[in-house]
Amino acid sequence: MKFDCLVVGAGISGSTAARTLAEAGKKVLVMEQLKHIAGHCHDYLSPEGITVHTYGPHIFHTNNRDAWNYLNRFTEFRHFQHRVLSYADGLLIPFPINMDTINMVYGTSITAEEVAGFLEKEVNKSVYKDPPGNFRDAVVSQVGERLYNLFFKNYTIKQWERNPEELSPEVARRIPVRANRDNRYFSDQYQGIPSGGYTKMIEKMLDHENISLMTGADYFRLGDTVSALLDEKNSLTVYTGELDRFFKYKYGELEYRSLDIKFKTVDMEQYQDAAVVNYPNDYDFTRITEFKHMTGEKSDKTVICMEYPMEKGEPYYVVLTETNMEKREKYIKETGILEKSGKFIFTGRLAEYKYYNMDQAVAAGLEKIRKYLNGKEI
Ligand code: UDP
Repeated sequence: MKFDCLVVGAGISGSTAARTLAEAGKKVLVMEQLKHIAGHCHDYLSPEGITVHTYGPHIFHTNNRDAWNYLNRFTEFRHFQHRVLSYADGLLIPFPINMDTINMVYGTSITAEEVAGFLEKEVNKSVYKDPPGNFRDAVVSQVGERLYNLFFKNYTIKQWERNPEELSPEVARRIPVRANRDNRYFSDQYQGIPSGGYTKMIEKMLDHENISLMTGADYFRLGDTVSALLDEKNSLTVYTGELDRFFKYKYGELEYRSLDIKFKTVDMEQYQDAAVVNYPNDYDFTRITEFKHMTGEKSDKTVICMEYPMEKGEPYYVVLTETNMEKREKYIKETGILEKSGKFIFTGRLAEYKYYNMDQAVAAGLEKIRKYLNGKEI
């Protein structure tokens, strides 16, 4: 049998592409290099009956109704509003910065209406460039140096092993500042965790008569064999792996950040008060996640994980520095040409070298594949 499309990667981006193509009648072969589907969204049930996220905490949140509705076809979501505490100055403080954060740090009792004015004074006391051209200045321009130093500076150095002034202000945009008392991590309209887990959701996405799946299969090793399975004239390859690897690093290597995640089963019903506690200034890990908060699963034990940032390993994060963005531009020019040919699509965090959230990966994949199916230029 000849396939119309090859999808490289069975993560959330690849699975969105594969499903959309399959529903349009295309015969799709999905190749995944890992031994399991779902990419970095993978999760599994621990012996204690707790759903554990293999690659660290994944909380789905979006304002994109299309992406939300799309995924709701494959899973129900357990409604969950993510809250994070940050361990700073020996206290567990609600994060991101909101009225309660300020009152705990400064020992004040300002009201929600006074937050914006308070932060403005903090910012006015601080030194930064306007408009901000890096992560540090982006944060300082919103909350001032004291809160930056307490919550952001050391976390960022630990996570990225780089001076925060080398990182793009885009990274700072992930963390809101709230001039009210909303202490949720995300304020998106739709938030939740797939009721049966992410792996089950992806399994369902890939469960289509037009989709064939190979796991533990490296596109770069099996490329020739696989090409022979494609219908030569009209074949499409959707690539979701690392951008630089596709082009044999011709413009040099892009940097990725990895994590060493240490999991622990703890003999207590609850380990901490929130699903995630950040440790900006203490220890070598960035945060501790306690999974049962997300799912509401009951057990007299609990599973936690600690994330230790690493330079090498499974690529989790793109690193938004100027050097990487310049290299990215060169690669993206090449992907643009290939996409115009109608033979290739590059989608997802790794293939587009973008710090996508899950919903953005779904939305971007849907957009490109729909354009392709409608014969429009991508
Ligand atoms: N960040 C920080 N302090 C925190 C949480 C986040 O300085 O307590 C910064 C840090 O640079 C981090 C970035 O904001 O890498 C993005 O945080 P997010 O929680 O979105 O990270 P992810 O969940 O993608 O690892």
